[in-house]
Order: sequence, then structure tokens, then C-alpha cells
Amino acid sequence: MKIPERVAWWAGVGAAALAFACAEKKAEPLPMKSTSPAAEETATFGAGCFWCVEAVFEELDGVLSVESGYAGGEVENPTYEQVCSGRTGHAEACRITFDPARIGYEKLLEVFWKTHDPTTLNRQGNDIGTQYRSVIFYHDEGQKVLAEKIKKELDASGAWDAPIVTEIRPFTRFFKAEEYHQDYFRRNPDKAYCRAIIAPKMEKFRKAFRDALKDERPPSKEELKKKLTAEQYYVCVQRGTERPFKNKYWDFKGKGTYACVACGRELFGSDTKFDSGTGWPSFYDVLNSDRVTKTTDRSHGRVRTEVSCSKCGSHLGHVFDDGPEPTRLRYCINSAALEFREKK
Ligand SMILES: [Zn+2]
Repeated sequence: MKIPERVAWWAGVGAAALAFACAEKKAEPLPMKSTSPAAEETATFGAGCFWCVEAVFEELDGVLSVESGYAGGEVENPTYEQVCSGRTGHAEACRITFDPARIGYEKLLEVFWKTHDPTTLNRQGNDIGTQYRSVIFYHDEGQKVLAEKIKKELDASGAWDAPIVTEIRPFTRFFKAEEYHQDYFRRNPDKAYCRAIIAPKMEKFRKAFRDALKDERPPSKEELKKKLTAEQYYVCVQRGTERPFKNKYWDFKGKGTYACVACGRELFGSDTKFDSGTGWPSFYDVLNSDRVTKTTDRSHGRVRTEVSCSKCGSHLGHVFDDGPEPTRLRYCINSAALEFREKK
């Protein structure tokens, strides 16, 4: 069972972080899944209490979802109590779904090794038992090679005083844990364990990986002025319209998604793009209805429906009801408001 006072697993991370930076310079990136390109990949890690592991990985940009569960054991659909008995062979583990175009497996490994103590066998702080072992369940050969290589480099670098005992083994099955374990930290910030143990860890993690975190704060006008080109600023912030046929994406046919150029929120998919003959990129749907805001625009003596990014408020274009099936909508969007992201 969980006991309230547990020793932080952050000990030694300062030294480890420095050593890791050196190791990184030597590392050559390996191609991931070069034979079966995918928009999503999965990583499965065990690093002690899954509440902490889940809280950490959920904050990384490019991580699409994290689930807490059990892996590596013999028993089907185990309960938390069974796993805590240490007799199921399972480890508390997190299944991480990520977009490899935005965050690499190598980065996930770096976070994994820097946010727990990989030198204590079957133990993280006061959590003792095989269910708390440090383990990487690899999903393909690329993950295996990368994990073994970095483990070797970390050991050689002397980042920790003792050898790394992280197990690296093939993924077999993952059993999602009971609902009350999911998003535990986010849903129970006031529980004693969360305040005493997870919150301080998260603070250190956020400092160490500042550049890799999801950015939930929309950019300010000043930031946009620096970040955007004059034309992008004119369209997004001053709500202007670019010239038809003389813009980047009006007849572009790449496969992928179109994100807001100002804040990065993904808005449209290439599968809903069609040739409207207007000279502007046109889509018959948005990725998710909550990605855009629609307002009435009475400028230029006409009544139109303006479309803006719902995260940062940037002007995108307008939507009309003369589009093709199945929505009959035509989102007429400025190229200057978009950033294309290829899906390989
Ligand atoms: Zn935006």
C-alpha cells in the first residue's frame, strides 16, 4: 500500500543532469520506426509510483496521452492491491502515447532517467518491491537499441554513484489501472502525498525541462510581433487578408496538419482540404470544433462569419456555407495564419 512519507527520488539528479548533457553530445540519433512511419508512437516505462511518472510525462509537449497501469507481470487484469502485494510480477507503469514529429523517444528516455533513481533495485525511496522497479518496456527494435545505448553511456559517464539497474525488456501487455489512479496528481493536488512528494518533484522537473513543456499560455502581442513575419502579423493580429493565389498553401497538397502559426494549436487536417477555386487554402472541416471560435464580422459592408484560433485569438479567415459534403462548409483561411506540419 502507499505510505504517506516517502523519500523523494530526486536525489542525485543535479549531477546526473550534467553528466547526461555530456553523454548527449556523443549520442547519434537513431532513426525511429523507419519502416513503418506513424503519427503516433507508444512508450512504456516503470519508474516507481505511477502517480509521479504520469504527472511528469503529461506535461511534455508532443505527449498526447499518459495512462497509469501495470505491465511486465503474469496476472491478467490485476487489481492495485494484487500488484502491491509484489506477487503478480507487474510493475507500476505508464503507457505514453506521443507524436514522434514533436518529441523523440530519446527525449522521453532522458526524462525517464532524470526523474527517478535508476540505481536502486526494486525500490524508489520508501516504495519497496518489484512493483516499483525501474523498467523500460520497448515496443520495437529502435527503442531497444536507443535505450541500451543511452543506459551504457550514462553508466560510463558516472552520472550516478552506483550502476544503473533499469531493466530493458520487450513490451508484452499493459493493463490500465483503476480509474482513481488516472490523473491522480491533477485530480488530488491537496492529498498529503501529492503535496509532500509529487509537487516538489514537479517543480524540479519543470525547471529542468522548461523548454520541453506544453505551453498552455497563449503568446502576447509583443511576442507575436517578434515571432511573426510582417504579413503573418498583419493577418493574425491586425485581422487582415492576404492576396489570393499569391500565398503559400492555396494549392499545396502535402499530407499533414495545419497549425496556428501564432500559437501552434493544430487546426485543420490535409484530408479536409479541397480546391475551392478562390486562391486561398480551403477546408470543409476543423480538426475539432473547439479549435476555432466563430464570430460575426460586419466589416466591408458585408456580414460574414470570422474564424479565429480559440487558443490565442489569432484571426484565421472566414467560414461560408457553400462548401462540399459532408459539412457543406468552406473554411477560407489565410496561408499566413497557418503552419503546415508534415505527417510522415
Ligand atoms: Zn493560435
